[in-house]
Amino acid sequence: MEAFDIAIVGGGPAGSSCAAFCALSGLRTLVLEREIFPREKVCGDCLNPSCWPVLERLGLAQQVRNFPHSKLASVEFITIDGPKVGIDLPPGGDGELSVKRSLFDALLLKRARDLGAHVREGTIVTALADSGNWKIETQTGESFFARTLIGADGRNSTVARLRNLLPHPRRERVALQTHIPLPRNFGRRVVLQFLREGYSGQAPVDETELNLCLVGTPPAISKLRQWANRHFEIGADQPWRTITPLTRSPVPCAHENLLFIGDAARVVEPFTGEGIYYALRSGELAADAITKIIRGKHRQSALQEFTRACAEMYRGRLWVNRLARAAVLWPRVGSFFVHTARIQPAILKLLTAKIVSREL
Ligand SMILES: Cc1cc2nc3c(=O)[nH]c(=O)nc-3n(C[C@H](O)[C@H](O)[C@H](O)COP(=O)(O)OP(=O)(O)OC[C@H]3O[C@@H](n4cnc5c(N)ncnc54)[C@H](O)[C@@H]3O)c2cc1C
Repeated sequence: MEAFDIAIVGGGPAGSSCAAFCALSGLRTLVLEREIFPREKVCGDCLNPSCWPVLERLGLAQQVRNFPHSKLASVEFITIDGPKVGIDLPPGGDGELSVKRSLFDALLLKRARDLGAHVREGTIVTALADSGNWKIETQTGESFFARTLIGADGRNSTVARLRNLLPHPRRERVALQTHIPLPRNFGRRVVLQFLREGYSGQAPVDETELNLCLVGTPPAISKLRQWANRHFEIGADQPWRTITPLTRSPVPCAHENLLFIGDAARVVEPFTGEGIYYALRSGELAADAITKIIRGKHRQSALQEFTRACAEMYRGRLWVNRLARAAVLWPRVGSFFVHTARIQPAILKLLTAKIVSREL
């Protein structure tokens, strides 16, 4: 049985980015993905401007711009009782853009495949054994072998669970997401609306559709859904996707011959819309570390470099994340904050600029 240099569990943005960069470096790369693409995913569909440099290095930036999308011009925060405040987003071709995950994720996975990665869709990893080389087993009884394993399988990572590394999830909140017809005159806004039971994120994803997300505690989520049904005149038969948890403790990203990237490593608050960037960039960083190890760099120093680079990626951003989490856990606090920002908009402008500033 052929042994791969690297096996990646999960073909989302983290796994596909890692696979593409590994394949570019000439590594024998395997991706095992549970779903068959294209598939939608619980997400706000917004690409933070920090994504562009990684997409450029992947040779995909223009193709993403060619997809049906919406160039987002502003963020509007709406308080529980209605008053709102709007903040302009940076203009230009490398600003914030929204695109459906079905298109975006399929493009990334195809890029990995085109660059030479061996991609298996519809393949669920169920068991792992480490005897120097990894043996990876799937639900259908197939086995694959690899020198290094990457957990890129999202917030409920099977790889982390099978290695007893998955932190106990706090299912304090749950998210629902769907696409609905774009309301007339919605414009190119991202709307973040505080509601008594949680919050709603709304963003146009193209000329005809709106991405609608709802986040609340499990007992409150049906009330949020009723609000959305009334507010957007959605039928009771509208299909919604769901996910939980919304946050959890991070998993250490580097182990001897096992790395975690994207949501599998660290889940960030969706409110700030940065998860895809962290996924893409951590995939690139992991590929860089593994390439160096395979080319002879001392393993421990390459892994330390990877850990430092991952920490650097989040540095200066996590406090914004904590703030966002507090605001959405207690919508009245978030609402009060927006009320204050109507009088003193500088603070909200600063926070928004921090979130959408372009990384190199
Ligand atoms: C409500 C909400 C809104 C959000 N909005 C935004 C936003 O607007 N912008 C943004 O940047 N981020 C947003 N995020 C975060 C973003 O969706 C994630 O950070 C991002 O998808 C992480 O990418 P990933 O590749 O790490 O994981 P995922 O995208 O979750 O991909 C993991 C892949 O692993 C596969 N998998 C899982 N288990 C197995 C298994 N056992 N075997 C094989 N394959 C497996 C899955 O099928 C999946 O394709 C949002 C999140 C939520 C919850």
